[in-house]
Amino acid sequence: MLKKLVFILFIPLIIIGCSQNKDVSEKENNIIEKEIDILQKDNATEEKNDLLIEEENKKTEEKVEIDYKKIKPNELGHIMIVMYHGLVEDNPPSPYQRTIEDFKKDLEFFYENGYRPISMRDYIDNNISVEAGYTPIVITFDDGVSSSFSLVEENGELKPAPNCAVDIMNEFAKTHPGFEARAIFYINGDNDPFKGAGSFKERLEYLINNGYEVANHTYSHAHLSEIDEEEIQEEIGKVDEMIKEALPGYTVDSFSYPFGERPVEELRYLIEKGIYNGKEYNYKIGLREGPSAPFYPIYHIKFDPYNVPRVRGSEGKEGDLWWYLEYYKNHPEYRYISDGNPNRISIPKGYEENIDKNSLGDKELYIYTIEE
Ligand SMILES: [Zn+2]
Repeated sequence: MLKKLVFILFIPLIIIGCSQNKDVSEKENNIIEKEIDILQKDNATEEKNDLLIEEENKKTEEKVEIDYKKIKPNELGHIMIVMYHGLVEDNPPSPYQRTIEDFKKDLEFFYENGYRPISMRDYIDNNISVEAGYTPIVITFDDGVSSSFSLVEENGELKPAPNCAVDIMNEFAKTHPGFEARAIFYINGDNDPFKGAGSFKERLEYLINNGYEVANHTYSHAHLSEIDEEEIQEEIGKVDEMIKEALPGYTVDSFSYPFGERPVEELRYLIEKGIYNGKEYNYKIGLREGPSAPFYPIYHIKFDPYNVPRVRGSEGKEGDLWWYLEYYKNHPEYRYISDGNPNRISIPKGYEENIDKNSLGDKELYIYTIEE
């Protein structure tokens, strides 16, 4: 089967557009000699590159463990980021809340339709290890509300409150092989995040010890477009400090804008970096509240790190989760489809120009064509 496929390993090549004149006499002037010298070096480089391609192809073909024709990986496709707030028993007060039953329905649909949750860490680091043929999805919860996550004490032990989202995901993962419980919680500082049993530190420890993540949503759920330079840094810096004090050594580098609202343009740089209380904070990602752009992976040329879109975990309205799920049902070609190998980025031929090669780090880029 593999023999039917033609794989092309993409290595930047110096394309030489002229041929070498072998009749040039030794008496020609220095400039020409220099040019010949360069051409000869280029020829040598080209031969070396040909050898390198051959070698790399051989190495890669040995490592190719999937049927490209069947799986058709597309690792430039969309990775949806879903935004939840809290869960309610019934009658959600707004489309920002989800009922427990509907949240379970979302997980079931993801599972049955080839979506697998990944961590924000792996999304930011481009370290995506879902099985071949599957689409990664990132699950987020804003505001630190107890129905998303809280602890109860039982026989002296802390465990997730029944039917909070973490409890539901833990149970779901137990009964659905291949599904890992992954989600990131964006918290504020002034509302006793994850109110319930345990200290702030114990709550955060539970999350990160169980595959979840925690990050920053400003101290007081601020309208960032309405406050000044100093206040923005205080809003971000305070929560940054809270999390880092509770979890020494933990990396906090993603941010979600309250109300999806960014600072005025000239102050947006303060999301990436700022100082509060003598300590610097650094963020790589700023999440909006809505589909502000398509869901690109970080190495897409149009990836905009401080304007990263999310869909509301809801249904009905255009741009909400279930609208997108329907959209991808009709347009599966837009989905990110994994090759199953986190170290290799597999792209169908013809899409190369959308890759920002500087963002690939040490990942192997693999452009493939399938002979019809
Ligand atoms: Zn919020």
